[in-house]
Amino acid sequence: AKEAGKNQYQAFDKLSAIKQNRKLKLVSQLHHAIANNEFSLVYQPIVRLEDGVTVGSEALLRWTNPDNEAIGPDEFIPIAEHSGQIIDIGNWVLQQACEQCKAWHDAGATHHAMAINVSSHQLKDQHFAQRLADILASLSLPAECIHIEVTENIAIMEEQACVASLYRLSELGVQLLLDDFGTGYSCLSYLKNLPFDVLKIDKSFMPANNTIASTIIAMGHELDMEVVAEGIETDMCYAMLQKLNCQYGQGYLFQKPVPASEFDIYKQYKCSV
Ligand code: C2E
Ligand code: CA
Ligand code: CA
Ligand code: CA
Repeated sequence: AKEAGKNQYQAFDKLSAIKQNRKLKLVSQLHHAIANNEFSLVYQPIVRLEDGVTVGSEALLRWTNPDNEAIGPDEFIPIAEHSGQIIDIGNWVLQQACEQCKAWHDAGATHHAMAINVSSHQLKDQHFAQRLADILASLSLPAECIHIEVTENIAIMEEQACVASLYRLSELGVQLLLDDFGTGYSCLSYLKNLPFDVLKIDKSFMPANNTIASTIIAMGHELDMEVVAEGIETDMCYAMLQKLNCQYGQGYLFQKPVPASEFDIYKQYKCSV
């Protein structure tokens, strides 16, 4: 038994060494990713559930490394946060997504709202809101059309610098969305003290035939916040969310994330009910 335990321990050691090597490789590759044009953004429509109209999109980051591997953001974003590279990457995303939003406004979709994911590490930088303000000014893009998505996590509630950034962003006039709502911090009292405008229900609570989804939607209404549901994959789920008066949604039922060239800014999706 002692021998087996030792072998298990060695196997574990080997596995964590492999993981560590991969991380180190990705960190060194990420270093050149912007200069080498390895990043791109894909866009997924945000749909008004009442009538199926496309009201905006969420920008999602994609990376193809020099080994021609597509690495998912769920893998490389935490690594970039740990290494500090998230700041440069996040700035690149901000600039690109704002430029795309401007292009779609110029093409006639002046209502189009662009949702951009922002890491709490970016919010810690006290110049973050000013940087966004500068981009908006340079593009003459109205602040209301930018939706900043921040994942619910304890760092934001506790870091004064993050909270300060949220208030600056709110003053600037951008919309603030609390992403992955329901998966993180369980105390709700902070919600009243932070300037969030919209709750985004995590896809783990779909297909919405559950108490958590309906409770979050009801709570959002109670707090005068709009609610977006992510991960809508079926008509049944769409119908359920409509019945619960959830205002907005996104998911593979409507459209998977696509490059800007394939995105239809005027698409009206089939209304479920
Ligand atoms: P998220 O912000 O919660 O984004 C939603 C994820 O759900 C996306 O995964 C999206 O492609 C996926 N999704 C959309 N519709 C469906 C559906 O109907 N079913 C299912 N199962 N999934 C769906 P993705 O693109 O792999 O992104 C993963 C996470 O990486 C994001 O989660 C976000 O936290 C992070 N991320 C992506 N882009 C950025 C970025 O530019 N900056 C930062 N800081 N984080 C990003
Ligand atoms: Ca998001
Ligand atoms: Ca989510
Ligand atoms: Ca997330």
